[in-house]
Amino acid sequence: MNLDFISQLGFLIGSVSFVWGLKLLSSPDSARRGNSIAAFGMAVAIIAILIMPMDKGAGNYAWIAGGLVLGAGIGLLLAYKVKMTGMPQMVSILNGLGGASAVVIATVEMSHFYHGTRDMSDSQVVIPLLALLIGGIAFTGSMMAWFKLEEWISDNAMTIPKHSIFNIVLLVVLLAMGVWLFLQGSEAGMVMAMVFMGLALFYGVSFVLPIGGADMPVVISLLNSFSGLSAAAAGLIYSNNFMLVGGILVGASGTILTLLMCKAMNRSLLNVLLGGFGGSSGPAKITKGDLVIREVSLNDAAIQLLYSQSVVFVPGYGLAVAQAQKVVKEVDDILEKNGVDVKYAIHPVAGRMPGHMNVLLAEADVPYPKLLDLEEANDFIANADVAVIIGANDVVNPAAEDDPSSPIYGMPVLQVWKAKHVIVLKRSMRAGYAGIDNMLFFHPRNKMLFGDAKDTLSKLITELKGL
Ligand code: NDP
Repeated sequence: MNLDFISQLGFLIGSVSFVWGLKLLSSPDSARRGNSIAAFGMAVAIIAILIMPMDKGAGNYAWIAGGLVLGAGIGLLLAYKVKMTGMPQMVSILNGLGGASAVVIATVEMSHFYHGTRDMSDSQVVIPLLALLIGGIAFTGSMMAWFKLEEWISDNAMTIPKHSIFNIVLLVVLLAMGVWLFLQGSEAGMVMAMVFMGLALFYGVSFVLPIGGADMPVVISLLNSFSGLSAAAAGLIYSNNFMLVGGILVGASGTILTLLMCKAMNRSLLNVLLGGFGGSSGPAKITKGDLVIREVSLNDAAIQLLYSQSVVFVPGYGLAVAQAQKVVKEVDDILEKNGVDVKYAIHPVAGRMPGHMNVLLAEADVPYPKLLDLEEANDFIANADVAVIIGANDVVNPAAEDDPSSPIYGMPVLQVWKAKHVIVLKRSMRAGYAGIDNMLFFHPRNKMLFGDAKDTLSKLITELKGL
């Protein structure tokens, strides 16, 4: 058996592990195993590339080892340190680095191409050009998304008037330049290729700048698919089937997720990309006037919950901030023991990343069948005695159904106001991520229970145990 055959076998094992791992990722029960299998596949593929015969593989083992140790060290540190609330930022950084790698690879190959040191035909240059374009946008776009999620840059902070038209013009120029570079072949020269790369990097920034608020999940998953596609392009450059398969899997799953997110928000992708919808969170703009805010005491809330037949918890971003998932499960256990039917209503964009709530609740060992998706949840809520909203805001905002002037009008929401009683757990009257007011808080059936979600729920457990 020669080494080339063994490394191709390694790539095959890696590719199959990726497909198998991705399949297992589709359910919280098997997701952890799926992740381990995919990581194993990656390790096999790395070994496979290292043992490749020298004419096809790389020989500079000291550099490779240095990169591996440094990258794995930083990755391990980040994985341990990152908080659940910081996961979307982490995903953005990883997407961005995927894009950046494709840009570096493509730059090296373009340099070989223009200096005649690599056997690449003029028509083959289309592949590094695509890697530069998609990777460049994925890199700087993801960095912008990271800055925005960290709130280092506020939405609309650096937008110019008619920003979406500016972006369309920029994209047309970028594509036209790509076509020109392709048609010129080796005549174009490295300088023009670098101008093209600069434009792609700039477009990534400009493209994400005006997008914000509730549209961020779509942008993040779109950039995720871009990073996959740029990896696939890099795989084509080196005729490496494993990179190609991995890139296509990420690209395809990111695209599917993007479309699912658009559907969850009832918006077209074009509308999201051109809309510039959003606004940072801030104090609610409702002027109180005749509106009354009703509060509920911990003791009353505990009595109401314990004597209910059915209760639905609606988790949102605040649950993640408070790290209240385990205490919710404790409340759930007490209620279940007393014969209450407890379910969790999961909105597809609740939190700050797709699947955020599912991950949190799985961590607290909430059984998966208790999690209801949007449609099932709305049916359940209509007959529920109490809906308890835990740090959720935009995803339970009735303006999505009854205020045509609202930016979230048309987005499917959890109709919690249809439950017999509603209790909202949050710290203040501040708006959610989309920065818009929520009339639910003034609804006659709603009562507020102010405070940090974990703290409030812990006190609620004490009350429940005392009843
Ligand atoms: P929201 O951001 O709308 O609301 C979260 C609420 O949690 C806030 O109003 C806040 O109120 C409250 N909160 C924060 N910290 C605590 C705490 N420690 N204890 C109790 N409450 C707390 O979250 P939703 O989950 O309802 O909606 C998600 C929003 O984020 C949507 O607009 C969505 O589009 C967007 N988004 C979603 C992404 C995804 O992929 N899922 C990615 C990026 C954005 P207060 O400050 O008063 O406590």
